[in-house]
Amino acid sequence: MGINRTYLIEEKDVVLAFSTNVDCRNIDNSSSFFNSADVVSCKQIHSDIVKIADESTRGTEIPDCDALITNIRNLPLLIRTADCVPVVLYDKRKHVIANIHSGRVGTQKQIVRKTVEMMQSHYGSSSSDIIAAIGPHICGKCYEVDAACASEFGEKYIVGFSESQKPLIDIASACKEQLEATGVNSNNIFISDICTAESPEWPSWRRDKCVERLGTFIVLC
Ligand SMILES: [Zn+2]
Repeated sequence: MGINRTYLIEEKDVVLAFSTNVDCRNIDNSSSFFNSADVVSCKQIHSDIVKIADESTRGTEIPDCDALITNIRNLPLLIRTADCVPVVLYDKRKHVIANIHSGRVGTQKQIVRKTVEMMQSHYGSSSSDIIAAIGPHICGKCYEVDAACASEFGEKYIVGFSESQKPLIDIASACKEQLEATGVNSNNIFISDICTAESPEWPSWRRDKCVERLGTFIVLC
């Protein structure tokens, strides 16, 4: 599959698109929504580091970060995941976009909240103008972790126990909570109901130990 537009965010000057076969190193998909040569990605490290993408980083992979923000048109931002949570943000008034890799570790480090705060401090964004979309990710019924991980992540995110009595945690709900904590209206948060681990057509590290990644692209047009 190529890069397909999604309507989780339905705004005329922004395109959100998913690809199920982005390699963990390369972007060789063709897209009618943007020029692949312009894509800015992150060398993702499970951090809470947020960086600004600008003309100087067009077409590059920015080292050591897990979220990108820009207000430049035709500068697509790419996040790669395989079970982790991709979160995109769009400030419809200031025309600023962000793309976030929020796995268990990044979520615990509050990368979603920190990205919203950087949009506020750097671009003057108001949370009330921000629309958020949470893309396909591993769901709470499938994400089994050991007890130490679960208690470090937060007892309140434990949604049950697996057959082997290991805790199951819901990372996406923690991402949503961080958005709401910064003042993003819950009516403006759209969550994909696709679970990567349960859907063979979507890349899942837990299921396949794959090199394929879900590519989440957002671009201002
Ligand atoms: Zn699931």
